[in-house]
Amino acid sequence: MTTQTNKALRFIRPDVQAMHAYAVQHSVGMVKLDAMENPFTLSPELQAELGKRLGAVEVNRYPGARIDDLKTALAKYVDLPAGLGLMLGNGSDELISLLSMACAVPNAKVVAPEPGFVMYGMSAKLQGLQYIGVPLKADFALDEAAMSAAIAQHEPAIVYIAYPNNPTANLWDADTIRRLITQVSAYGGLVVMDEAYQPFSSKSWLDEIRQHPEANAHVLLMRTLSKFGLAGIRLGYMIAPTALINEIDKLRPPYNVSVLNAECALFALEHSEVFALQATVIRAEREALFNALQQMAGVTPYASEANMMVLRFDGDAHAASRAFEVLKTHHVLVKNVSKMHPLLANCLRLTIGTPDENRQLLAALQAALLIESHT
Ligand SMILES: *Cc1c(COP(=O)(O)O)cnc(C)c1O
Repeated sequence: MTTQTNKALRFIRPDVQAMHAYAVQHSVGMVKLDAMENPFTLSPELQAELGKRLGAVEVNRYPGARIDDLKTALAKYVDLPAGLGLMLGNGSDELISLLSMACAVPNAKVVAPEPGFVMYGMSAKLQGLQYIGVPLKADFALDEAAMSAAIAQHEPAIVYIAYPNNPTANLWDADTIRRLITQVSAYGGLVVMDEAYQPFSSKSWLDEIRQHPEANAHVLLMRTLSKFGLAGIRLGYMIAPTALINEIDKLRPPYNVSVLNAECALFALEHSEVFALQATVIRAEREALFNALQQMAGVTPYASEANMMVLRFDGDAHAASRAFEVLKTHHVLVKNVSKMHPLLANCLRLTIGTPDENRQLLAALQAALLIESHT
């Protein structure tokens, strides 16, 4: 670095300089079970058809009417209730950032259960909102008393509820969530129901919104096509009462969704049965994996409503980290969440893969547990 570059760093925010960049694990040649991606690729026929569609896109033009087509297609896909609007983000990550930005007034706060999705806290802090994490119970249930106390004390602008949660993969009790939503509505705060894992979940809060629109008039529902099967294209969407959507949409960079993303998403929605079938296979594989892991001595799997699963290891505090390394030597990449939060001590997070990938995962785990039994 030249001295001049070094000097210029003083104009970069100190809190940004103190941050670590989001680490993406090296994964070439690995069975990639670390990032909740859909393991299935498109058939050669669909790939060819998509290629033709993308080839014909006018990449010389800024995104235009096709973006509206995509919004219309998504509204149809979710059967958007009357009075609600829909906006698009470059992934849900962008929607989370825009929402933080929209709420960033002095003393504004964000509350979310922990362990949870790291972007809630990160985007809040970067936009100058105070972030308050509320620990879950040991079984990963919502701690209603603690959540309610934090909401009463801080009156947060935004409460995030991931439904199901990442990384714990469970759905929280609907009655508890209803009561928290009511509490937040009393002072006019926003509640985000983040349904990134909706394709794999037995429940959606959208049904609740349909049945009780008034009680959910301050609820924003986020979804993404990432876990659905299009993590590469970066497309998230948010559903909320039109008046709220209109405000947040003002902050959206005008061309945030590329023409290629939009065309690919439209193509996927036209073939939504292909992705629905993939989700069905993944859910069946999830149950098979859960049963197999329950039979293994030395680990405890947690029931999942998503395309991932938390697995806790018996033994000393480093058992999960040792197993993570053994899995890597078997070319299986998962996420070591054991240092992420005290409630996740000795835990790994596994993405559900194809039947063959899951077999490789189980074999690698057997090997890791065999080593553990000899230490
Ligand atoms: C993956 C994930 C997202 C972000 O999804 P993108 O659309 O890929 O940005 C949002 N929320 C939760 C809980 C997630 O796990």
